[in-house]
Amino acid sequence: MTQGEVKMAIPIELRRLLAERDKNYCVYCLTSEENCGLRMHVDHIIPETAGGKTTFDNLCLACFSCNVYKSATQTGLDPLTQIMVPLFHPLQQNWHDHFTWDESKTKIIGLTPCGRATVLILQMNNPTVIKARRRWVSAGWHPPVM
Ligand SMILES: [Zn+2]
Repeated sequence: MTQGEVKMAIPIELRRLLAERDKNYCVYCLTSEENCGLRMHVDHIIPETAGGKTTFDNLCLACFSCNVYKSATQTGLDPLTQIMVPLFHPLQQNWHDHFTWDESKTKIIGLTPCGRATVLILQMNNPTVIKARRRWVSAGWHPPVM
């Protein structure tokens, strides 16, 4: 954020509606508030810097990690085809069309150019979350059924 920019707060009622729709999960990596013990952030799917509005259909819940790595990014390089593609749009695309879990259920595998680019840009398999997912899997809390 540059100096002089004013970040608009998310109105309480809008935050409540997002929590209801997204069930307190990160719509990107499917981490739940209950597992990580941290309140989900509100992500602008189309970033504010690109003209994205603070409206129900441009907002989603995202964990701190996905939100920070996504930042104002809208596209990423698919490591397989080396093509720049738009990142996953959680409201216009279905998670299961673009991602799946590996056998251990701790690692997200991108199934499409969009999925693979999003896994990389958002660092959805960073070592810290993998460690946490291992515990969640052994406790039977992960992956969520969605
Ligand atoms: Zn996440």
